[in-house]
Amino acid sequence: MVKIATTWLGCCSGCHISLLDLHEDLLDILGQVELVHCPVLMDVKEIPNDIDVALIEGGIRNEENLHTAKEMRKKAKIVVAFGTCAVYGGIPGMGNLYSNEEILEKAYKTTLTTKNDEGIIPNEEVPPLTSRVVPLSQVIDVDYILPGCPPKPELIASVLTALLEGKEPEISNKNMCEV
Ligand code: SF4
Repeated sequence: MVKIATTWLGCCSGCHISLLDLHEDLLDILGQVELVHCPVLMDVKEIPNDIDVALIEGGIRNEENLHTAKEMRKKAKIVVAFGTCAVYGGIPGMGNLYSNEEILEKAYKTTLTTKNDEGIIPNEEVPPLTSRVVPLSQVIDVDYILPGCPPKPELIASVLTALLEGKEPEISNKNMCEV
């Protein structure tokens, strides 16, 4: 049975929610595959070996994202950049307009709702930020892109179905940005 894995990196999880929005159609797909890693449906910490198709949501924002992307690439035959953040950097890419110091200062000290009298910026058990946000294809080889913020459920289904049938998924420019 085809082994499918999904994971998320620097993202909002909305692409996975779009996957769940397939509703009953998702059950049809899951009936044909073995799901081995998926943060919204199962609690598996380690990335398993011998994955056939991996959907990776989000770009690279920190060192943990980078490690996870490389692990997934090592263990999966086909890697799909899942959603605009994975394909282009997306919303988290706006962080590139600021230095990491400015981002940490804002996030941990100066937002209106933050109370941090000691001015502590956590640096233990929090993965360090990478110098810039980059899309997946800048750190690993990507076989297919599945753009959209989030990708439409029917597009996710058609790409997965094509890959399960050993066909080339069709992603037209129409799916890049709906007007
Ligand atoms: Fe969220 Fe959109 Fe990025 Fe998906 S592409 S993780 S929905 S911001």
